[in-house]
Amino acid sequence: MDLDRVTRRRFVGGISSALGLLSLKPRILWPQQGQNPRPRATAEEYDAMAKLANNENPYGPPESVLKAMTDAFKYANRYGYPDGGITEAIAKHHGVKPENVMLGAGSGEILDIAGNAFLLDDKKIVGAEPSYDVLYQHVTALKADQIKVPLLPDFRQDIPGTIAAVKANYRDVGWVYLCSPNNPTGRVVTKAEVAQLLNGIPSDVIVLIDEAYHHFVDDPNYESSVPYVLEGRNVIVTRTFSKIAALAGMRLGYAIAPKALISRMRPYGTGSICAVVKYGGVAALKDTDSQAWVKKTTLALREKSIADLKRAGFSVIPSDANFFMVHLRQPVAPVVEEFRKKGILVGRPFPPLLEHLRVSVGTAQEMDRFLVAFKEIVPPKAAAVGG
Ligand code: PLP
Repeated sequence: MDLDRVTRRRFVGGISSALGLLSLKPRILWPQQGQNPRPRATAEEYDAMAKLANNENPYGPPESVLKAMTDAFKYANRYGYPDGGITEAIAKHHGVKPENVMLGAGSGEILDIAGNAFLLDDKKIVGAEPSYDVLYQHVTALKADQIKVPLLPDFRQDIPGTIAAVKANYRDVGWVYLCSPNNPTGRVVTKAEVAQLLNGIPSDVIVLIDEAYHHFVDDPNYESSVPYVLEGRNVIVTRTFSKIAALAGMRLGYAIAPKALISRMRPYGTGSICAVVKYGGVAALKDTDSQAWVKKTTLALREKSIADLKRAGFSVIPSDANFFMVHLRQPVAPVVEEFRKKGILVGRPFPPLLEHLRVSVGTAQEMDRFLVAFKEIVPPKAAAVGG
């Protein structure tokens, strides 16, 4: 990766952000379940914001990926375009066969497909609460029941509780959703806990393990669950190019699963994946240096920000992802609004953690803006009560 280029771009971005703030209007809201979508910000407004709300990669794709995508624009006018070998590249990356890979327009599409394919006939989903709320919104739209298992007091996922919930509803369970690291808390489900879950439930229950934030994990007790697919277990692993690879706006994700499960999901896929991002994805898989840089930089900024908040007296949930949750000890919704007024987008409320604010790790400049604003918005006495 060209570090100079990244630093320069961040610097230019910082200045334009500060200038853009001057003309900010209060228009951007987070969407509420069941309400109309938020009005989109204008490009000017959006560019001026510190974007710490959606766990994105703030640096953008590296040169290698931009070049691959630029070269692929020659297919922009075609339907039958070649795909750059993306399925084969993903299969090789994970040591599986192409038949074990299904592409989606983001891993969000794969989650929707799993909902459509495996929640038919009044089947229920079992998962943690809170977890990735967009998935639960889709399940709500499908009118499928959700069995939500509360997190443990230390915000880790309750594996014995999940096993008990599956056993109590065995024949009705369509699939189990396990997000690791979990969004919004950032905590992982360890390798031992995944084994405990898979060995503790009937083997025909499907478990989908969402590894969207896999690349940011440092915990040695964590491991990807792809090896279970190689064993032929009823496991679907989802991954995305939206986070470490900085391609959120280009939409590419995938599932790794046994052929039998992929065959059940395929009819629900649109297959509508942009020609350009297929080439970008292949280049991103190769550019491990850039990803290592993003991980190192993000984790350093995350720990620096957490230390700063702790020094100010706030507790923070330990995180293994590119975001973290700080306990405000006051309702989060008005605080999110105050940040927005200052041109800083931070995480939406994640019930039932209504006093926790989720903050995505942005650039150094964005984190500085966040910390300055935090001290203005959240009075230190809010931290002191209860320690
Ligand atoms: N899964 C988790 C846990 C996420 O946090 C997200 C996005 O934030 C997604 C899946 C969907 O990501 P995408 O559709 O961009 O791959």
